[in-house]
Amino acid sequence: MDVQNFDLNTQHLILNTILTKQRIIAHFDLDSFFVSVEILNNPSLKGKPVIVGGRERGVVAACSYEARKFGIHSAMPSSKARQLCPQAIFVSGTRGEYSRYSRWVTDIIAAKAPLFEKASIDEFYLDLTGMDKFFKPLKWTIELRNEIMHTTGLPISFGLSSNKMMAKIATNQAKPNGFLQVPFGKEKDFLAPLPVEEIPGVGGHTQEVLAYLGIKTIRQISETPLALLEERLGKWGTDLKNKSLGIHVSEVTPFHEAKSISTENTFDKPVTDLVFINKELVKFTEKICYELRQDSKLTGCITVKIRYPDFETTTKQVSIDYTNADDEIIPVVKAIFKQLHKKGKPVRLLGVRLSDLTNDAVQANLFIDNEKKNELYKTIDEVKNRFGKTLLKRASSG
Ligand SMILES: [Mg+2]
Repeated sequence: MDVQNFDLNTQHLILNTILTKQRIIAHFDLDSFFVSVEILNNPSLKGKPVIVGGRERGVVAACSYEARKFGIHSAMPSSKARQLCPQAIFVSGTRGEYSRYSRWVTDIIAAKAPLFEKASIDEFYLDLTGMDKFFKPLKWTIELRNEIMHTTGLPISFGLSSNKMMAKIATNQAKPNGFLQVPFGKEKDFLAPLPVEEIPGVGGHTQEVLAYLGIKTIRQISETPLALLEERLGKWGTDLKNKSLGIHVSEVTPFHEAKSISTENTFDKPVTDLVFINKELVKFTEKICYELRQDSKLTGCITVKIRYPDFETTTKQVSIDYTNADDEIIPVVKAIFKQLHKKGKPVRLLGVRLSDLTNDAVQANLFIDNEKKNELYKTIDEVKNRFGKTLLKRASSG
């Protein structure tokens, strides 16, 4: 069947039926995650306008709902936030704690959910399709949320619907500290009154284009002729039309099959020179850290692989605080190699892999203690982009 042969409304109906039939997706998102962790570690912050970020310089990495009432939002310059709310309490981030709590929540979800994706350090999609034969998905999801809150002490919200986009929008409507189900078939009605910027991916530019057409709500998008949306927004206009009707196709990527970034090299002759091997490890790590930053991702797990001339192959992996900085990852890579390597034995193949990748969605690169470092890596990466990736190397990878 070629869907294109039908008129647009029928096309949507068919796609809707094919794509969303029987799918049940939950989206979980920890509420103002960084701030919630800070409050757990210092309960006197509770109920106050709290900002994670530098007081004197830098930007707001996260802020409490009390701070948001003053118009403060993440990525705002700290100086502006101070003007809006002079009594705001600034705390510098504790990345190790955020990594620890993120893993704790991940473990709780992993123990219960048959299929889930970790979309960022504080965000998860669960595919519960088929589960309705055994449980009531809403009841099950409420119980999971209660378990996360009672075990970790962190507030978390969820949305439950027929695809990832709908579930995420539902979560945003449920926040803070709530949950919301949009039943199958009610997607379009639920979206209709919401402002256009509730659709993920609608930013300043799209808003401007839509406003020029007099479009402010999602209902108005759904009622605008597709040809007009395509004329103004190209292919994105088609996506937007589908999204305004609650249609979105995207699979939940299983956590353990999530992408990793790796590099390895088989040497022409087995190598025993440890100075050379360490230089190689640095070179590999710099290469994949660069890729990580280009993808705006963080890694939480490092693996080193060694193969000996007799083809014996060993690997060892270590979990770390989420990062994408060469200088934090290189020492770990070297340390893993040192533990793993059989002393004196020549090495035939060497590899480094970064996994447990999460999107840098929570401005992890805005951490104040990393601000200078981030600037440095930004400059390094810009030079690499412009002049080729091999030009700039750490001195030791020489
Ligand atoms: Mg969150």
